[in-house]
Amino acid sequence: MVALDEGLITPSYGVSCYGGYGACGGVYVRCEHKNPGHAANLRLALANSCNSYFSDIFRKAIDNRKYSNTIQGYLKWKEYMNAFGLGRTLEVDLPSEDKANIPDTSKYNKFFGGAKRWNSCSVLTLGIGQDKMTATPIQMANLMCIIANRGYYYPPHFVDSIENEMDADTSLLAKYRKKHIVTRISDSAYQAVHDGMNDVTVYGTAAYIKIPGIEYCAKTGTAQNPHGKNHSIFVAFAPKDNPKIAVAVVVENGGYGSVAAGPIAGFIMEKYLNDTISTEGLARVETVSKTNLIPDAIRRWYLRKDSIRIAKIAIEEAAAKAEIQEENNKANTEALLESNSKPIGGNDTGNKIKIKSSLLMNDDKRKRRDSGKP
Ligand SMILES: [Zn+2]
Repeated sequence: MVALDEGLITPSYGVSCYGGYGACGGVYVRCEHKNPGHAANLRLALANSCNSYFSDIFRKAIDNRKYSNTIQGYLKWKEYMNAFGLGRTLEVDLPSEDKANIPDTSKYNKFFGGAKRWNSCSVLTLGIGQDKMTATPIQMANLMCIIANRGYYYPPHFVDSIENEMDADTSLLAKYRKKHIVTRISDSAYQAVHDGMNDVTVYGTAAYIKIPGIEYCAKTGTAQNPHGKNHSIFVAFAPKDNPKIAVAVVVENGGYGSVAAGPIAGFIMEKYLNDTISTEGLARVETVSKTNLIPDAIRRWYLRKDSIRIAKIAIEEAAAKAEIQEENNKANTEALLESNSKPIGGNDTGNKIKIKSSLLMNDDKRKRRDSGKP
């Protein structure tokens, strides 16, 4: 979108990718595809999720001659990211919203040891959503909303309306009813991205994820995970024309975006738009809901945590039992002492205490009493 809006590319711009982007020397960004022509234009690059293409156009944005240097180019790119709702809060109606991160230039100046010591190659993987940037799922869903709406959004909110709305409610809800217009990007740029994202679902990386009777637009994502299997990401909006729903699904350790997150996003959109899930879909919902993707290391951590918890409970229970036993013993001794101090064949109260004490006696005392020994 940035490269299109800045006039750096047109939708027909293409790159030659043979399995990765190597124009930065030391940094090489791998691509899942090697076949010639898979990034011959924007639509193909989106459909095939070509990392080389997005690395290339990211550099074009940072090295834009319109801006005097890397810092200025980066600041303009960051301005677009913030306009699209990334690296800032969206002011949802929940506390503790995370703004995630589109790093400031000062972060990179510090990291690389000065403003002139980094360039578009140093931060290349930002172009495919990596490096030091982060985004929350709600930011990604909102981004889909902006693209679907061709340039605007309403802040995401849980409370849609209040029954018998009063003036106070209206003023409370006002900020969620305010239309936020994102930086004015041409309709043709949005159209190019819509077409590419539709191709993703027709013959691209999400081709086998279908919503019965509905055409939609999507983009798969596979986030590298240094601790294990990649995280699976899927963002989408549907229907393709007059969109009604935007979604973002993130499945940790799920692998490719189309494998774990894609089907879930598909079910959400199908249920929302068709109000039901097809019979064939239901079987897959069952399979997905039973899939356990928790890695062994984390499962072991939970097991260990659980066994420690169980052991702690057992120790507490044993301590509580011992305390009850001790109290009983004490009560028995007291009762026995008291009963011994009463005359044999005494009054009613004495008899009652005797009965009670025999019930509470431990075995040793009972034996001694029964054998007549003191
Ligand atoms: Zn490629």
